Amino acid sequence: MSINTKKYKELLAEIGDKVNLVAVSKTKSVEDIKALYDLGQRDFGENYVQELVDKYEALPKDIQWHFIGHLQTNKVKYIAQFVSLIHGVDSLKLLQEINKQGEKNNRIINCLLQIHIAQEETKFGLNEDELDDIIGSAELKNLKNIKISGLMSMASFTENEETIRNEFRYLKTLYNSYNQLQIANCKLQILSMGMSADYKIAIEEGSNMVRIGSLIFGERDTINK
Ligand SMILES: *Cc1c(COP(=O)(O)O)cnc(C)c1O
Repeated sequence: MSINTKKYKELLAEIGDKVNLVAVSKTKSVEDIKALYDLGQRDFGENYVQELVDKYEALPKDIQWHFIGHLQTNKVKYIAQFVSLIHGVDSLKLLQEINKQGEKNNRIINCLLQIHIAQEETKFGLNEDELDDIIGSAELKNLKNIKISGLMSMASFTENEETIRNEFRYLKTLYNSYNQLQIANCKLQILSMGMSADYKIAIEEGSNMVRIGSLIFGERDTINK
């Protein structure tokens, strides 16, 4: 077993019950996930569609699966039946496809809009104007099989705490500015920010959902995954 039970329990105590922990299990084995499940963990995050589908099939059905990677429109259909929350939505086109697949599966699929806050160019996500366009669009109201339940983001990969803090703070401000929205399928309640390296700062800046992998499961075996 490679899960760090002690660290997991410390983490739960540290974040308290106002913050939701998504255990990021990408590249980790079904056995490791089951071991964490047996300690009571129910929310797990995956980045790759095929891996998520395989794990969904192999593991207990009361697990809440979070898709936290970049989702391609042509792959939504594989996870639409069971996914609990899709974190990385960054286009209206993707929302429309998720809605279509939600309709086919007769369910409402919860989504988070991904916001670009980091300095790196390579990260996915919407800027403020693009977010505004999606939330303000007439089309959104027609998407009855999705619900936008919050925002998600990744901070820069840097040792500079101030940079990270400022990025999270910016996201929280953006999140707050949509607090009073009166759109049936768009109510921001989840602020998904913080990973192994920066979750403490994220929580201090208002995160209520952290996505943590390596701290619980150990370093991933494959670089860049
Ligand atoms: C891998 C990943 C995480 C977890 O990263 P750790 O540093 O292992 O905690 C969180 N969020 C996203 C989007 C990821 O891809």
